[in-house]
Amino acid sequence: MTTGIALLGATGSIGETAQRVVARHTDRFRFVALTANGNRDALSKAVAQWSPDYVGLVEPGTAPLPAGWGKGTDCLLEAARHPDASIVLNAVVGAAGLGATLAAVHAGKRVALANKESLVVGGALVQRAARESGGEVIPVDSEHSALLQCLAGRVGGDGPGLLPVQGVRRFIITASGGPFRTWETERIRGALLADALNHPTWAMGKKITVDSASLANKALEVIEAHVLYGVPYDRIEVVVHPQSIVHSMVEFEDGSILAQLGVPSMELPVLYALGYPDRVEDVGVPRFDPVAAASLTFEAVRHDAFPTLELGVSSGRRGGAAPAVFNAANEQAVARFLAGSLSFAGIPAAIGAALDRLADLPGDDLPALLAADAAARTFVQEFR
Ligand code: NDP
Repeated sequence: MTTGIALLGATGSIGETAQRVVARHTDRFRFVALTANGNRDALSKAVAQWSPDYVGLVEPGTAPLPAGWGKGTDCLLEAARHPDASIVLNAVVGAAGLGATLAAVHAGKRVALANKESLVVGGALVQRAARESGGEVIPVDSEHSALLQCLAGRVGGDGPGLLPVQGVRRFIITASGGPFRTWETERIRGALLADALNHPTWAMGKKITVDSASLANKALEVIEAHVLYGVPYDRIEVVVHPQSIVHSMVEFEDGSILAQLGVPSMELPVLYALGYPDRVEDVGVPRFDPVAAASLTFEAVRHDAFPTLELGVSSGRRGGAAPAVFNAANEQAVARFLAGSLSFAGIPAAIGAALDRLADLPGDDLPALLAADAAARTFVQEFR
């Protein structure tokens, strides 16, 4: 009997990685639903390979859709609630993924979550839904997968967070430092798009690649770690590790530190989230050779050069609508940077101004969070 997976964002970097991984494990897993935003060709190719029961294209344009395909944002919800899907692999980019995460958790499913923005924007709502329904969230993000692997045996019971932890003193989340790690602060401010997309260790979608260059991605990950594991912000540290081999570390209350290592590939975190708590035998995941790696180094974050990290983490500490404002402001600022209408230095400037104006908006329920998200997008779109 194979486990049914609904793959949302099938045509993206994580979506394609997931297809590669599942292709090696068709005895265990099958795709029962696939969605994309607008890339009809890539989605059709995936449909031809997997013959899923349900297909959704959020923005189909004007050409008629093949018979039976869903469209609009509702197709994400339909896929997330598909009765034959035990696992929903959410690989949508941005806050657009939140509704599907909530729908899947409400339906009592396992969400293998790449879409970290879901937890940044609506962490409390996802947690409430999980308590009520018995649904669960298992992270795909490599750092959070690393934390989960280090925590083996120490997850569960009472406590805050979607996956409450026991006996943890500190999380150390690693960051590659991105393409501007060694650049002078002034040079970073004027960085061009091609520079920001030139990530030294990871091949990913454009939005997260820019987020990695600004360290917005690390801010999202600190908030994600707090929401997932309930560890207070002052016990979550970020350290730069340029080789991206140590994916994160957990320090336990006796001072022992466990780290999870591997080459920079999302195949293992995807497979781990699908099989958790089991480890699925797989010889396809790229292997790590410690002798070839030779040295693993660590550095402090240069907060003056990367102000987006602190903007994001302080929005998480503030809570309410603030992280949703941070996330939406960042998404809109990155969209403008990609479109050439905002400089790289404009990203933290726009986010900071949006937080100054909007961080205290109400954030108690989904309509309030969506209103804060929309206000932040409008603010950043008009930011000069
Ligand atoms: P990509 O941009 O490569 O892919 C995004 C996917 O989501 C595509 O299938 C896209 O469809 C779909 N999509 C985009 N916008 C919407 C929308 N509004 N509604 C529905 N579907 C949409 O992103 P990544 O794969 O890089 O990242 C996906 C998520 O995983 C992000 O949250 C990212 O932070 C996280 N992540 C990614 C990692 C990586 O290695 N790439 C590592 C860790 C986390 P279409 O192709 O049709 O546009």
